[in-house]
Amino acid sequence: MLNIKDLKVKIGDQKVLKGIDLKVKEGEIHVLMGPNGSGKSTLSQSLMGNPDYKAKGDLTLNKKDLLDMNVENRFLNGLFLSFQHPVEIPGVSVSNFLRMAYNKKFGKDLSPIKFRKLLAEKMVLLDLGEEFAERYLNDGFSGGEKKKMEVLQMLMLKPTIAVIDEIDSGLDVDSLKAVANAIKLLQKESNMGILLITHYTRILKYIVPDYVHIMKDGKIVESGG
Ligand code: ADP
Ligand code: MG
Repeated sequence: MLNIKDLKVKIGDQKVLKGIDLKVKEGEIHVLMGPNGSGKSTLSQSLMGNPDYKAKGDLTLNKKDLLDMNVENRFLNGLFLSFQHPVEIPGVSVSNFLRMAYNKKFGKDLSPIKFRKLLAEKMVLLDLGEEFAERYLNDGFSGGEKKKMEVLQMLMLKPTIAVIDEIDSGLDVDSLKAVANAIKLLQKESNMGILLITHYTRILKYIVPDYVHIMKDGKIVESGG
């Protein structure tokens, strides 16, 4: 379980999160909504350990303290963040990037050829052609391809808890369906817990939440079913 208690976050001198309490258990789907600038992405970045965000409070994953861990160790302990704005990294191919992360997470040493087979199975779920694996990470990707890349990482790296920041914005109907169904499939297989940040209800037709939380001005002001 991911347990967030009285989490306060500053960016520079600005207090952005003013005490967040939230528990996400394995298998649960939580949705976080709220106006622009309310702090949703700040929460996602702080959970993952972005060093620009100064976080105080309690943050544990399966009773392990995350606040003292760097990004890499949070990832190795099962946390995953799907970025709202993925970063472009020219020179690093999708398959090499994912193979290194995969080998690190699972303590394996899969060769490029063996890994490509695993990767191809997951790319099919997202309607991604074979050539996608050899492109540079997010470099020149369309908005939809960037979002699919985030989900592809999730499918390969099988987190315990996934924080998914606005995966649905800018996706056409077919991509939205593919992305939502892939997330749902992974969640069923692995019993992953999800914190899904969104502005729209359309993705919730496919990924039905157990809980919905509304964030406003750095606080969760309402929670319900
Ligand atoms: P949301 O994702 O809910 O739209 P954000 O978490 O992105 O909101 O932003 C919350 C507040 O924090 C906003 O006032 C925003 O301007 C500020 N903020 C976010 N990231 C940064 C940053 N890197 N530097 C300075 N201010 C930031
Ligand atoms: Mg945001």
